Amino acid sequence: MHDAIIIGAGPAGLSTAFWCDDLGLDALLLEQAEQVGGQLHRVHNPITNYLGLKVRNGRELVERFTADIAEADFDLWTQTQIDGVDLISKKVSLQSGEKLQAISIVIATGVRRRKLGVPGETEFSGKGVIESATRDRELYSGSDVCVVGGGDAAAENALLLGEVCPTVTLVHRGKKLRARRELQEKLHANHCITVFTESVVTRIIGDDEVEAVEVQRKDGLKAFQIAVKGVLIRIGVEPNTELFRDQLELDDEHYIAVNREQETSVPMVFAVGDVSNPLAPTISGATGSGATAAKTIASRLNARRHD
Ligand code: NDP
Repeated sequence: MHDAIIIGAGPAGLSTAFWCDDLGLDALLLEQAEQVGGQLHRVHNPITNYLGLKVRNGRELVERFTADIAEADFDLWTQTQIDGVDLISKKVSLQSGEKLQAISIVIATGVRRRKLGVPGETEFSGKGVIESATRDRELYSGSDVCVVGGGDAAAENALLLGEVCPTVTLVHRGKKLRARRELQEKLHANHCITVFTESVVTRIIGDDEVEAVEVQRKDGLKAFQIAVKGVLIRIGVEPNTELFRDQLELDDEHYIAVNREQETSVPMVFAVGDVSNPLAPTISGATGSGATAAKTIASRLNARRHD
């Protein structure tokens, strides 16, 4: 019987486990990937707004976190696939057949990038479907590219690609971009960036590598193709909550509802980090929410022990 089973070893899960150890709790941290760090592995730009630290990219922050947790005393199981979780009884079944039991569960499963779901998106991954402008833009220097999406991430990536590509076509489904004004002004000031609103990319076309995208305008006119060598998709994120969906309260976008102690609608089940924070997902927020959950669990267990 563990005091806490924490699911997901991104910044929120790591922070929860770290704090649990500090507070004398017996915590088990489960991670499906080979390495801890979660989405930090996809941050290719410098992180400059995490108080007290400046790092070149997410990987460097993972290294800093890993150095700290090496001194902590909690169990960490990586490459661990969960088969099911019963939140009421706090039982976790692993795909290996093993069954685990805890007094509390902390969900730190984060979010994933939303997929466009069009032909070519998966097939051309790494062959023209660009993962990150920060990391990969030199590969596309001198080539025409397309960016899909209308938020800050799409705008930022379009601007980065616009520094090295002769043309960048930004395709957005809505009437207006959602990106903040400062980024929109930069987009409009850059003559090599063209913005198509009320338009969707319906297909990514190519032989071995991306050669074009098919765009359909919402006014119903005939679809047309734009010749590009690269396509970068940034259409937001969605929470990893499939394992828990019928067991606790979620919002309309399937994020987990929590109170100020990070507790969900099920007693002694907590959610921390981006999976319960649709409005302001940040690394600082994730680590802070982990500390809050751990402190709440510790004080509840202390109260029980003194009853
Ligand atoms: P957002 O959720 O802000 O925007 C997603 C965009 O993708 C929207 O314009 C949306 O269109 C569009 N979209 C959603 N689903 C689809 C779909 N199926 N097909 C086509 N288009 C779709 O996501 P971001 O990734 O841009 O940003 C996420 C968060 O990260 C935000 O809080 C953002 O502010 C933050 N961020 C901040 C940055 C910074 O400050 N430097 C940089 C990058 C991100 P519609 O508008 O029609 O709904």
